[in-house]
Amino acid sequence: MKKLRIFMMCLLVVMLAACGNQSPKESTDQNQKDQTASDSKEVNLYTSRHYDVDDELYKKFEQETGIKVNIIKGEADELLERIKREGDATQADLYLTADAGRLFRAKEAGVLQPVSSEMLDRHIPKNFQDEDQMWYGLTKRARIFIYNKNKVKPEDLSTYEALTNPEWKGRILIRSSENVYNQSLLASFIEIDGEEKAKQWAEGIVHNLARKPEGGDRDQAKAVAAGIGDVAIMNTYYFGQMLNSEDPEEVKLAEELGVFFPNQDSTGTHVNVSGAGVVEGSKNKDNAVKLLEFLSAKEAQATFAEANYEYPVNEEVNPTELLQSWGDFKEQDIPLSSLGDNNAKAIMIFNEVGWQ
Ligand code: FE
Repeated sequence: MKKLRIFMMCLLVVMLAACGNQSPKESTDQNQKDQTASDSKEVNLYTSRHYDVDDELYKKFEQETGIKVNIIKGEADELLERIKREGDATQADLYLTADAGRLFRAKEAGVLQPVSSEMLDRHIPKNFQDEDQMWYGLTKRARIFIYNKNKVKPEDLSTYEALTNPEWKGRILIRSSENVYNQSLLASFIEIDGEEKAKQWAEGIVHNLARKPEGGDRDQAKAVAAGIGDVAIMNTYYFGQMLNSEDPEEVKLAEELGVFFPNQDSTGTHVNVSGAGVVEGSKNKDNAVKLLEFLSAKEAQATFAEANYEYPVNEEVNPTELLQSWGDFKEQDIPLSSLGDNNAKAIMIFNEVGWQ
């Protein structure tokens, strides 16, 4: 009898508590509202990278921090236009894209804000950061020579400049000057040698082209393999992708080609980055910085770079086996922000020399 009375009292207490409270659904909604108002648990990433492994990295970040990463993928210029159009109302917190030239465009458009972080400074060398801390490089790539092993010996190759010599007439392959990778390459020469010399180089390459520029970087390597030309200028990771392609024909073709890092006894090989910056109108800035820091740290750097055959920017992390097999190399010694500073001049020179 006593037990029954206690049970009835407990039941009454529980029923009263339930009546006085909101339904579980309402309670959850209220929690969510409180969270977005005070400390948000999400970050919106606008990225032009399209690799599955990037998504795995973001999942890992979610698990470690409880911060949800909402990913919006698109072409770099499209995403930039979208952020500009959205203005203060933008949902974007972090903008991630390839090439210091594109990151510069975002900075110039006023859509990025400076970030200072002791961790980012520790993980990312100064020359791979924007001078005003508007963006940070996350993965590194080199613009190298890929040559036909049957027609060219490595001893025949030396510098970017040497490819303008008469013996290379009709043998050079490189994509259109509309592409930002070439604009950044020429911008680096403007920074190192000045405009006049940079123009001479561009003129000399146009003179020695095997065909009118067409296709992407990988198409230049394919044209070398097909005998259309003998040397292609292209980014390292595209060659890594070809060697690891699911298409056995592409692998076979890539294995016929050699890798050469130019300017080792002089100014160094041209390097560039893919990187990210926090968006000016970010509503979740702390989370955006946390994600940027996570991507610069050891574990993410290894994964990030491995997926796309890129070099990590964090010097504590080793490049993948494939990249190590190509050997160490001397890099151009210039701040990458100079690629953006010289972008307009590079485009002007390309137009002047008729590089399509
Ligand atoms: Fe690319």
